[in-house]
Amino acid sequence: MSNAIKTVPSYRYTHTQSFKPSETKLKQQDEKQFECALNRYHYLCAAIQKSYHMQDVPPDLSRGQLFPRQGLVFASYTPAKLQPVAGIKLHPRQDGTIHPGDIKVYRDTFRNSWKAREGGILYCIEEDERAFWNMILNYHSSAATTGIKVWDRLFKQLKDSNYDKALVPCMFFAREAGCLYPECPFLHDRDACIRDREKVLMARRVALGRPTTRDISLRERRQLQAHRAAQRQVVLSNPSGGEQESIESRLGALTTRDDFWDEDEDEELDPEVARIFGERATIRNICCNPDCLNVQLKKNARTDSDQQMKMKICTRCKVATYCSKECQVSDWKRHKKEPCLPFEEIVENDDLWDSFGQRKGTGDPRFVFSE
Ligand SMILES: [Zn+2]
Ligand SMILES: [Zn+2]
Ligand SMILES: [Zn+2]
Repeated sequence: MSNAIKTVPSYRYTHTQSFKPSETKLKQQDEKQFECALNRYHYLCAAIQKSYHMQDVPPDLSRGQLFPRQGLVFASYTPAKLQPVAGIKLHPRQDGTIHPGDIKVYRDTFRNSWKAREGGILYCIEEDERAFWNMILNYHSSAATTGIKVWDRLFKQLKDSNYDKALVPCMFFAREAGCLYPECPFLHDRDACIRDREKVLMARRVALGRPTTRDISLRERRQLQAHRAAQRQVVLSNPSGGEQESIESRLGALTTRDDFWDEDEDEELDPEVARIFGERATIRNICCNPDCLNVQLKKNARTDSDQQMKMKICTRCKVATYCSKECQVSDWKRHKKEPCLPFEEIVENDDLWDSFGQRKGTGDPRFVFSE
C-alpha cells in the first residue's frame, strides 16, 4: 500500500487564497489537530452528560491570576481528565434558565460566525466558552434547549449512539488546511459543509447591500454635534434668558446622550435627539463619502417633502453608494483601499470579514473588535 502521494485533499472546498504548508508541517499538524479535537469532544460529552459543577476555580498563578473565579470543574467526568474552565460569566436565573434575550445573542454569535460554521460545535466550545456553557446550562434547565435546534438534535443522537464521534462534525475538515488525519474519527460531510459555506456567503451578500454601521454612526454623531453646538449657542447668546438659572447649569442640562445604545427609559429624550436616533431604521442608502453621508430613505419612510434621491453605485464593487458623481470622485482614494473589488470577490474573501459576519472596517469605529 502506498501512501507516497498525498496531495491537498479535494474536500478542501473553500478559500480562494492559496495555503500550501510543507508536507512535514502538515504531518505535525495532523496529530496536533486531532488532539485538540479530541479534547473538545470530551468537553462536549461532559457538557451533554452534565458531568460538571459550577464552582470557584482556584487562580492559575502562572497566568498572573490572583483570585479564584467562577467556573466549571469536571471532577465527575472520567473518560478523560479535563481542565477546569474558569473566568467565564455564567448567569442562570433562579430556575436555571438563561434569559431568552441572551440565548438569542449567543445563537446569533455562532450563526453569523464563519469560523463557527466551518469548525462546527467543537470550534464553539473554546472560542466562545461563555456562550457555549450558558447554552448548556439552559439545555439542562427546564427550558431543555441549547437555543440551536441542530445542537439539540445532535445531543440526542450522541446520547442514543453512546457518543459516537462519527456524528460530531470534524472541526478541521472545512477549514483552510482541511483535515489530513487519515484516521480522523469525526464526521466529514462535504455536502453539509458546502451548504453551510453557502449560508455564510448569502449572509455576506445581504450585509453588503445594507448601509454600514460605520456610516450610520458617523452621520448620527455629526448630527448630534451640530445639534449640541446649536443648543449651546442659544444658551450663550441669551445670558439672562429670563430665567434664574446660571449659564453653567443651563449648559449642564443640555443633551448628553451620545449613543444609540445608551437607552435609559427614564430619560426624556430631546425631540431632535430622538429624531436623530430614530432615523437609523429608515435609511435605505447612505452616501459613502464620509464628508457627505447624505441618505436615501426607505420608501415607507419618505414624506412628500423628501427628495427622491437616486443613489449611484460603484460600478466595480457594486457595494459603495454615492449621492453624486462628485462624492464618488472625492471618496475614491479612501474607497479603493477598502478594498474595492468585484462583488463576489469581496464575498468569497474570508480575510475581509470578521467572525461576527461583518465586513471588517464597517462597524461602529468606536467599537473595533480585534480578530
Ligand atoms: Zn477530520
Ligand atoms: Zn467600489
Ligand atoms: Zn454624497
